[in-house]
Amino acid sequence: MYIDNVKFAKSGKTINGKLDLLKCERIQEIDQFSGEVSYELVGYMDTLNRPTLKLSIYGIIGTLCQNCLQPMEVTLDNQSRITVFFNEDQLDAALFAEGDSDVEDGVLAEAEFDIMQLVEDEVIMLLPYASKHESCIGLSYHDSADSPFGVLKNII
Ligand SMILES: [Zn+2]
Repeated sequence: MYIDNVKFAKSGKTINGKLDLLKCERIQEIDQFSGEVSYELVGYMDTLNRPTLKLSIYGIIGTLCQNCLQPMEVTLDNQSRITVFFNEDQLDAALFAEGDSDVEDGVLAEAEFDIMQLVEDEVIMLLPYASKHESCIGLSYHDSADSPFGVLKNII
């Protein structure tokens, strides 16, 4: 889905939809992630009259616990603010400014700005790295050699 990101911001539009992680090749290449993520993109002009996009991401996704390799759920919930710039110099100056830049993230003005690409990039940044159950019994449970019960049996 493509938008003119400047016109979109000026007109104050909102777009929302869903991303199915199983259908997203780039995400499946990273690890086994499943589930749906909802997104909402809102356009507006900020206080400095710059076109701005606010992207909200929310979803409960499935992945595997890196400790016991059993399924687990992780909640993604994030908002980001993306300022649209009209040339690369302005974009670089804002993103790599030392100190007091108020720009969280930035993109260039584009008549065919790919929304799904933006949503995928954002979801990829939010994906958990080496997630684990909060109280995980771990792999040792399945490994009889190290099981305390196995040791006990040998003593008896
Ligand atoms: Zn676990």
